[in-house]
Amino acid sequence: MQQLPGNLFVVAAPSGAGKSSLVKALRSFDARVYPSVSHTTRSPRGQEKHGREYFFASDAEFDAMVAADAFIEWANVHSKRYGTSKKGIQDRLANGDDVLLEIDYQGALQVRTAFPQAVLIFILPPSWEELRSRLENRGEDAPEVIELRLKNAATEMAQVKEFDFVIINELFETALFDLKAIIHAQRLKYVSQRRLRPDVFTSLNLTL
Ligand code: GDP
Ligand code: ADP
Ligand code: 5GP
Repeated sequence: MQQLPGNLFVVAAPSGAGKSSLVKALRSFDARVYPSVSHTTRSPRGQEKHGREYFFASDAEFDAMVAADAFIEWANVHSKRYGTSKKGIQDRLANGDDVLLEIDYQGALQVRTAFPQAVLIFILPPSWEELRSRLENRGEDAPEVIELRLKNAATEMAQVKEFDFVIINELFETALFDLKAIIHAQRLKYVSQRRLRPDVFTSLNLTL
């Protein structure tokens, strides 16, 4: 995986911090970053469609993918399993496209091991009160599911120190600006510019 030319961004956050909303909003500005669609054993929520938010898999289907070594990473999150398939992202990265994974911290750390150049971004809520109120107002999860997610949030947020970048999602527009800035800066690195604008390097007689 190490030599692939595309950038790999990994976004993690406790449930309710605003990860999905930020990534969705980013996509409306930036069509060059491809979100990877994970597999999960949890059930679809209201509007979710198979193949769009997730590939919804049975335990047996998930087991078969684990046995076939089909995942770059997988983890148990809130008592369900989630995984990123190799198939979805390797071709894109090889093609020089940027890929974004919205995954939990356990998966993020596995991705870093497999792909040390991955850029790890952690999204924090501004406070516990705000995290709880966002989960409640989202209205997608039963009260006991919300309690489990809040309980797990403490363990998840303790991992923030392992990440390259931290975004505090207090004002949505500010957090979105921060996410765009991280992605933009990554694309300005020498190796990316060399690949994105070979014409300029050639015309300036700059050799590798
Ligand atoms: P959300 O937290 O409200 O977005 O709820 P989800 O049920 O969509 O996701 C639950 C958790 O699983 C979140 O922490 C996600 O980041 C994580 N997750 C989603 N996809 C993957 C994946 O492919 N691998 C891993 N390791 N975690 C994932
Ligand atoms: P995650 O994907 O991290 O679980 P969501 O993107 O579903 O989180 O966001 C959780 C809830 O909080 C959603 O209802 C969303 O509209 C809301 N939300 C996200 N960011 C903000 C923000 N900065 N201020 C207020 N509400 C927010
Ligand atoms: P979802 O929770 O389904 O990912 O997001 C619902 C919608 O609300 C998305 O279109 C997202 O961009 C938007 N959204 C969520 N939170 C905020 C916010 O605080 N400010 C703005 N402007 N839009 C938001």
